Amino acid sequence: MNDAPPSAETRMQFLFALRSRGVTDARVLGAMESIDRGPFVRGLFSERAYEDMPLPIACGQTISQPSVVGVMTQALQVNPRDKVLEVGTGSGYQAAILSRLARRVYTVDRHKRLVQEARQIFEALDLVNITALTVDGSFGLPDQAPFDRIIVTCAAEDPPGPLLAQLKIGGIMVLPVGQSDTVQTLIRVHKAEDGLHYDELRPVRFVPLLEGLGKDA
Ligand code: SAH
Repeated sequence: MNDAPPSAETRMQFLFALRSRGVTDARVLGAMESIDRGPFVRGLFSERAYEDMPLPIACGQTISQPSVVGVMTQALQVNPRDKVLEVGTGSGYQAAILSRLARRVYTVDRHKRLVQEARQIFEALDLVNITALTVDGSFGLPDQAPFDRIIVTCAAEDPPGPLLAQLKIGGIMVLPVGQSDTVQTLIRVHKAEDGLHYDELRPVRFVPLLEGLGKDA
């Protein structure tokens, strides 16, 4: 774990990059200021933790670019009483940010190793309102459904049906959709009384949502 806190200058540059790329919501910026990205980036790339770029993590996955985390979190419009599901724990960074904004965060990944490592960081940072589980998130988390908010940080061709079903009426889901190796689109789904409403937010690039558990699980 890279535990050295960033310098004041690094911190300022980090926040400046977020603002200049469209992250303007004060609660989201506050949450991102309160959680250092350093502990979530291990090994070779730890020195680059405060740059606005995606970085490799274990199991061939990536920790998302901070400004993309910010834009997605902002689009999710999380309220303090919300129960949130994240599909794609990865490093745990996005879940940690969400834990500052929501009542309860469930985060799932198909790789057991990633879930275990993320849990250790949540514990070290005393983020007690996150539950991290090793499951195939394409089926959501029926035991804990319905959710006020759902965020998916891996790309599917279409929004998975079980996730749409596990969203409350009035709920919001943010996810990348599209073919895995081309440009994908970040979309926001709002589940209203009269059905689902879709908004296209911006082009993004995420690792694919894969069916089944990872080999390490
Ligand atoms: N949100 C993460 C980045 C996620 S990278 C962060 O903040 O670091 C995408 C993650 O989605 C990977 O860890 C991958 O293992 C996971 N993933 C892919 N398909 C999945 C599935 N069906 N269920 C759960 N997790 C999945």
